[in-house]
Amino acid sequence: MDIQILWLVLSLLTPRWRGDGQDPADRLAALRNQMVETQIASRGIKDPGVLAAMRRVPRHLFVPDFEVENAYDDRPLPIGHGQTISQPYIVALMTELARPGPADRVLEVGTGSGYQAAVIAGLVSHVFTMEIVEPLADQARARLASLGVKNVTVRTGDGYSGWPEQAPFDIILVTAAPERVPPALIEQLKPGGRLVIPVGSVYDLQELQLIEKTKDGRLRTEHITGVRFVPMRRK
Ligand code: SAH
Repeated sequence: MDIQILWLVLSLLTPRWRGDGQDPADRLAALRNQMVETQIASRGIKDPGVLAAMRRVPRHLFVPDFEVENAYDDRPLPIGHGQTISQPYIVALMTELARPGPADRVLEVGTGSGYQAAVIAGLVSHVFTMEIVEPLADQARARLASLGVKNVTVRTGDGYSGWPEQAPFDIILVTAAPERVPPALIEQLKPGGRLVIPVGSVYDLQELQLIEKTKDGRLRTEHITGVRFVPMRRK
């Protein structure tokens, strides 16, 4: 056999001999750890549970095949249907602001790829997530099932009205931007609960808000930072 062909056959059979000599899964895990260090911990995210979740969830399995190499970049990525998976730092920031606890029940509006749901699912009791684009909801449901994530329920629908059958929630995360905070989401928040939501028009910079409902039912709003999310749509 020609020596070049022999080399080709051997290199295909033996992953260690390919490229930089690393197993692809190890390489992606290394990129993920690097993402947590350089994009998330370095920007002030401290909650050890959130950092561990960001290291654990394989973000590259939540993006289209042609985006796998970019999955750990410091930016949002397209996921089809004109929608995006949020930038890793924003996912970590929203998760930390929500102060997840093991007994918490979470509503997410805007399932998208299912990545944010998977990240917070590891830190709470159950996640109910709504997606207005049916094929995205179906894809996210299948993806979460194949990853063995059992405590996320995905439903197709307009999250503007929340999910009254499962309310009230300890945490509500909204990952599409409405022009104003939907009143139903405030209603469906438990006293002591946290709502993390980008608010504003598509054309302006939106503002990420943390809205807490006090034990006696009053609202306390904290203005966190400027963000850019896809607009919240209406049915
Ligand atoms: N959390 C997602 C990112 C979502 S992008 C992730 O981790 O990948 C925002 C998503 O919100 C889009 O998929 C969009 O279709 C969805 N969306 C927009 N308006 C909505 C509405 N009214 N109700 C539910 N989902 C909505």
